[in-house]
Amino acid sequence: MSGQEDADDRRASVVVIGAGQAGLSAGYHLRRRGFTGALDEDASDRTFVVLDAGPAPGGAWQHRWESLRMSTVNGIFDLPDFPKPPIDPEEASRDAVPRYFAAFEERAALPILRPVSVASVSRADADPGGALLVDSSAGRWRARAIVNATGTWNNPVLPRYPGRERFRGRQLHTRDYAGAEEFAGLRVAVVGGGISALQQLEEISRVATTFWYTRREPVFRDGSFRPEVEGREVIARVTADVEAGNPTGSVVSYTGLARLPYVLAAQERGALRRRPMFAAMEPAGLRESDGAFTPVDAILWATGFKADLAHLDPLGLRNDRGGIEMRGTRVAHEPRVHLVGFGPSQSTVGANRAGRAAARELARLLDAGSAPERETGPRPTPPTSSSGPSERRTSP
Ligand SMILES: Cc1cc2nc3c(=O)[nH]c(=O)nc-3n(C[C@H](O)[C@H](O)[C@H](O)COP(=O)(O)OP(=O)(O)OC[C@H]3O[C@@H](n4cnc5c(N)ncnc54)[C@H](O)[C@@H]3O)c2cc1C
Repeated sequence: MSGQEDADDRRASVVVIGAGQAGLSAGYHLRRRGFTGALDEDASDRTFVVLDAGPAPGGAWQHRWESLRMSTVNGIFDLPDFPKPPIDPEEASRDAVPRYFAAFEERAALPILRPVSVASVSRADADPGGALLVDSSAGRWRARAIVNATGTWNNPVLPRYPGRERFRGRQLHTRDYAGAEEFAGLRVAVVGGGISALQQLEEISRVATTFWYTRREPVFRDGSFRPEVEGREVIARVTADVEAGNPTGSVVSYTGLARLPYVLAAQERGALRRRPMFAAMEPAGLRESDGAFTPVDAILWATGFKADLAHLDPLGLRNDRGGIEMRGTRVAHEPRVHLVGFGPSQSTVGANRAGRAAARELARLLDAGSAPERETGPRPTPPTSSSGPSERRTSP
C-alpha cells in the first residue's frame, strides 16, 4: 500500500468510521464545533465525513432479532439533544431505533456516506502529524485524524471446541437468531452467560428442551444497579483496564446479571440449571465434562461479540497482551485515533459521551495553538411524536 497522493484521494480533517450511536454522537459534536461536511460546497478548513458500512441508518440495531422489543432492551439512551419520540414498548427495537436514528441524521444534517466499508487505516508516512489513509469500498480518504465507531456486531465470538465440524445438528450465533419458533420441539444447547444468552434461553425454553452451558458460574447481581453509583463503579473498572492496556472482558463480567423478568421466567421454567462447558461436540450431541452424553439438535452460541477493529491493524495499536492502551477515547500512543463505543463507552450512554469527548479533543488537536474552540453549531430540534420515519440515505 503506497502513501503516494492520488488525484482521486479525498480529504477530510476527520473521518468517522461507523454511524451507530457512537459515530452519530461524534459527528453531531464535530458539527457543533464548527466542522463542516467534507463534500459540502462551503466546506471550511475543518471538515469531516462519516463512512458507514450499514445499508441504512440504525447501526447494529437494524440487525437485532425480531423479539428484542423496546420493552426488553436494557434501555436506549437518547442521541445528543434529540429525545426519542414516544415509542410503543412492544415495537421491535430493530424497527424503532433505526427510524429514530434516521430522523436524527436528517435533523443533524450529518455527511454520511453509505454503504461504505473501511478496509484499512494506515499511516501515509512516519510523520506523527502526517495523513492517515482510510481505504474504503468507495476509495481512499486522507485524514488528519479518525474516530473509529465500528461497534462489535460484525465480530461475533465463536469459541472453538473439539468436534465442532463433526456435529450434525444446527449451529448458530446470537447474530443469526431469528426467534424461538424455529426450535419448537427440539433439544437446544445455549452457550453463554451474558444478557443475550439469557434472553434467548428464556425464549427458546418456552418451546424447546434447553440445556444451558457457561464457562464460569454466572454471577447474579441482587439489589439495585443505579447508573450514578454502581454504573459509575463499573465504568471506572473498565476505564482502569483500558488505561492499563488490558484486553477488556464481556459486559457482564463487569456488571453481573440482573434478575430481570425474563431471568425470573426462565428460572421458574427450570431453564436456569447451568451446566459447566461440555468437553467435546459429537455428531449427535455433546460429551459432558463428566463423560455423560447429551443428545442435542441445535447449539446456539450466545457467546458475545468483540470490538470490530481489524481494519486498524496496519496502525499497530495493540500491545503484546492484545489490549489497546487508552486515555479517554484517545489511543495513548496515537493521538490521531479515537475509539468510541469501545471499552467503557460500550453502551448507548457511553457512546454518546465518548462521541462528544472525541470531538472535543480532536478539535483541540487540529486547532492546536489557536484560541480554545467553542460549541457553535445549531442543536437539532427534537422530533414531534407525529414525525414519521425520515430516512437519509447518502451514497458515495
Ligand atoms: C444484542 C445487544 C443488545 C444490546 N442492548 C443494549 C441496550 O439495550 N442498551 C445499551 O445501552 N446498549 C446495548 N447494547 C450495547 C450497545 O448496542 C452498544 O454499546 C451501542 O449501541 C453500540 O453503538 P456503536 O455506535 O458503538 O456500534 P454499532 O451500533 O454497532 O454501529 C457500528 C456501525 O459501524 C459500521 N461499521 C462497522 N465496521 C465498519 C467498517 N469497517 N467500515 C465502515 N463502517 C463500519 C456498522 O455498519 C454500524 O453501522 C447491546 C449490544 C448487543 C450486542
